[in-house]
Amino acid sequence: MKTIIIKAKDHMLSAEELKQAAKALKNGGLVAFPTETVYGLGADALNPQASIKIYTAKGRPSDNPLIVHIADPSQMNVIARDIPDKAYELARVFWPGPLTIILNKKEIVPYETTGGLDTVAIRLPASRIAKDIILASGGYIAAPSANTSGRPSPTMAEHVVEDLFGKIDMIIDGGKSTLGLESTIIDLSTEVATILRPGSITKNMIENVIGKVFYDKAILTRHKEENVVAKAPGMKYRHYAPEGSLTIYEGSIDKVAAVINNKAKKYIEVGNRVGIIATEETKHLYECGIIKVIGSRNDEDSIAAGLYKVLRDFDDIHVEYIFSESFEGNGLGQAIMNRLLKAAGYNIVKVD
Ligand code: AMP
Ligand code: MG
Repeated sequence: MKTIIIKAKDHMLSAEELKQAAKALKNGGLVAFPTETVYGLGADALNPQASIKIYTAKGRPSDNPLIVHIADPSQMNVIARDIPDKAYELARVFWPGPLTIILNKKEIVPYETTGGLDTVAIRLPASRIAKDIILASGGYIAAPSANTSGRPSPTMAEHVVEDLFGKIDMIIDGGKSTLGLESTIIDLSTEVATILRPGSITKNMIENVIGKVFYDKAILTRHKEENVVAKAPGMKYRHYAPEGSLTIYEGSIDKVAAVINNKAKKYIEVGNRVGIIATEETKHLYECGIIKVIGSRNDEDSIAAGLYKVLRDFDDIHVEYIFSESFEGNGLGQAIMNRLLKAAGYNIVKVD
């Protein structure tokens, strides 16, 4: 398939470019576009055949539901029913933005989009290009991350090209995603409000608006063997995974660096290529291996924004082993660790 790449100027598309993207989507095609979280692979969410194409292009398991992106909060009423006040309150405060709300679906949403579930995940993104595309193409766009299933999510158009060129109709290049981590997902389809995926909008921020919410147990899991089944179907799959074997080391940074240096030296001696995930503040502690800076410890946002790119960069140079520092924290730090732990297959070592 021929994939057209359009480079957006000043984070906007021209009227002609918008028309072209909208036409592809209305015809049941696939268009990748930037959002503030990561790049999304768009399709008409109300067209079952279009949704099926997403699963094929990504190699995504068919029971992993898609998020429906809208451009105006009132559209919630068209695709969801039994909407609790809490949903309207969260929408008022956090939309447009990186929050996905799960509600009971109306019939108009095909099961092909919801992975067979009677609930639908809804988000109203902040990115100008995303909003323009959604509006121009009918208003309901399914848009999972625009990567091959299992690979780190795309935060630049180049990542989308790597994974999906030749498999989709169009790629809109709008530069780097500002946040770099997928949206927070909250389930409001049941009595108990539950966060299924942590993101930039934290539990605290949500509780300040609607009161007590809970974490799905799977989010707090630190080890595979705890064997907790995630409530968001997609969270159970190995995700975000780099090609190399990734190990996270946690503990005081000097000790972590000493252990990583020691391991890296041994692995390199026997002919392996080793990558190290470090920060601006800690990069000087490492003595060998290919050292990549994920961001600054004084700026959690920069670490969130840098995570997937670092993992993909290590794929590009085919490192066999990756050693990473740990990034603890309550708010965004928790979302970062959630993704890093998944990327590592929960391979985390305590250093004392
Ligand atoms: P992605 O769009 O690639 O970020 O993945 C969407 C995430 O939302 C996956 O983890 C899905 O399992 C989750 N999700 C989407 N719809 C639902 C739903 N109706 N119920 C639970 N989780 C959902
Ligand atoms: Mg994804």
